[in-house]
Amino acid sequence: MTESYDVIVIGSGAGGGTLVHRLAPSGKRILLLERGSWLRREPQNWRASDVFVDGRYISPDTWYYDDLTPFQPQVHYFVGGATKLYGAALYRLREEDFSEMEHHDGVSPAWPISYGDMEPYYTQAEQLYQVHGARGEDPTEPPASAPYPFPAVSHEPRIQQLSDDLAAEGLHPFHAPCGILLNEGNMPFSRCVRCDNCDGFPCLVHAKSDAEVIAVRPAIEHANVTLLTGAQALRLECNDAGTAVTGVVASVNGIEETFRGDIVVVSCGAANSARLLLSSACDAHPDGLANGSDQVGRNYMFHNSQAVLALSKEANPTVFQKTLGVNDFYLKGTDDFEFPLGNIQMVGKSQAPMFRGEKPGETRFAPTWSLEDVARHAVDFWLSTEDLPRPENRVWLARDHTLTIAYTPSNEEPKKRLYHQLKSMLANLGMHHDHLLPHHAYLKNEIPVAGCAHQAGTCRFGTDPATSVLNPDCRTHEVDNLYVVDTSFFPSIGAVNPALTAMANALRVGDHLLGRLDAAAPRPEPVHVA
Ligand SMILES: Cc1cc2nc3c(=O)[nH]c(=O)nc-3n(C[C@H](O)[C@H](O)[C@H](O)COP(=O)(O)OP(=O)(O)OC[C@H]3O[C@@H](n4cnc5c(N)ncnc54)[C@H](O)[C@@H]3O)c2cc1C
Ligand code: SF4
Repeated sequence: MTESYDVIVIGSGAGGGTLVHRLAPSGKRILLLERGSWLRREPQNWRASDVFVDGRYISPDTWYYDDLTPFQPQVHYFVGGATKLYGAALYRLREEDFSEMEHHDGVSPAWPISYGDMEPYYTQAEQLYQVHGARGEDPTEPPASAPYPFPAVSHEPRIQQLSDDLAAEGLHPFHAPCGILLNEGNMPFSRCVRCDNCDGFPCLVHAKSDAEVIAVRPAIEHANVTLLTGAQALRLECNDAGTAVTGVVASVNGIEETFRGDIVVVSCGAANSARLLLSSACDAHPDGLANGSDQVGRNYMFHNSQAVLALSKEANPTVFQKTLGVNDFYLKGTDDFEFPLGNIQMVGKSQAPMFRGEKPGETRFAPTWSLEDVARHAVDFWLSTEDLPRPENRVWLARDHTLTIAYTPSNEEPKKRLYHQLKSMLANLGMHHDHLLPHHAYLKNEIPVAGCAHQAGTCRFGTDPATSVLNPDCRTHEVDNLYVVDTSFFPSIGAVNPALTAMANALRVGDHLLGRLDAAAPRPEPVHVA
């Protein structure tokens, strides 16, 4: 048995890394366990063939689909977690996402806290992660108590043209909120060089606002914070009554060790957090730790996403493309469809090596267009439709504790309509009409659940212990010193990217924990003056 800590945080991504950043200045003894290593800075960081074809930074895990088909999930076990590879589009959920919302396939449930409760933390998260954006352009934008800390990342000419064309269609394109350390006013001193290898790549020059750069590195400068890499939590032990976690059993570079902490926070990513709780069954929790409600692992969501590319009539020489979003179909549908469709945004610019193994030439241009031609003309979009939390969509453990996912998509109709909506506009956007092609590099389509970048929802928070795993503070209903702060807590996922919400929530839970730790701290003896 090793040293005891005030707080043990398991997982150093958007949730765990941000939480540790919030707790670090308190002087409390904090242990951060991360199963991965530091992501190496090396030339391959920025090589499309290494990243997208060879999957250099995809961790060698095997998960199983419902029928026990094995697949390699697109997960990233590094200090900073999935944010090392993320596109850094840092959106707030819409205010409406916190209430019930009617969708084609049913109701997206309300959150147990309001947008107003989260708003101050969204503002703090935007400041911490140095988000660039422009308020007032997106009609669905929720109220904010402060401007974005940095100006929006500018559109390059082809994307500015697209923005103008979308506006001419009567839509409201906006500058996408983006977490990169870019100073366009002073490029010689800008950490970000505005390159074409951002979305889906690690940043070689550490200029992306990821959880390693922004949260973990500054946190471990505090002497009271210890980071252990190569430390995979295997199970949590608890007391006989099942009311408190007493130990975190981890494999540290292959050697099993047990760590003690007054408070334990799980933040392994939605699927792995469920796995850890389910693997920690004991006499008091026979179906998995904190799983008396049978909700751990259920309600798995990961967005009903489509990565597609259109072909611009003029070449598209854009370098940094992820600067534009459209939310006109987020809260409502179209004239003939009353339900929300989702969010449209750009993804990183296609590069020819990304197409290896794909068939983008399956167009009327083939075989006259080379892959380079397709890449040169590609304008790349990411379409997200909300998927609904369904109890039968779940992470569970097969016989030998292998992580298994059962998932049936929801909201397929709005997803189809969002695609057709974009397709119907192509001719007016300077693109070849009728060509909106799937882009597999950004989305594994063979086994859709492998594209788990936006995984969420396996330990949802709520006020009713019968239907939720966590209370509104993200503490498990059943185990007093156990919290979960990754995207597991989402009761619904909305249709914008999830990371900023995980970061904001981690700051919110951090404040709660600081209050709890302060209240538990021994009070100094009163001094009696004679
Ligand atoms: C390619 C890509 C692009 C994306 N683009 C965007 C975007 O533009 N905008 C956006 O908002 N979101 C984006 N996302 C999603 C975003 O990165 C995630 O929503 C976010 O990182 C989730 O945070 P988390 O804390 O839940 O999990 P993670 O950030 O994944 O952190 C989990 C951490 O736990 C560690 N871990 C797992 N199991 C254990 C264990 N047993 N013991 C110890 N450590 C463990 C992992 O190694 C990891 O470091 C993207 C994701 C990917 C992969
Ligand atoms: S665009 Fe900027 S933040 Fe993104 S990878 Fe390039 S240098 Fe890094």
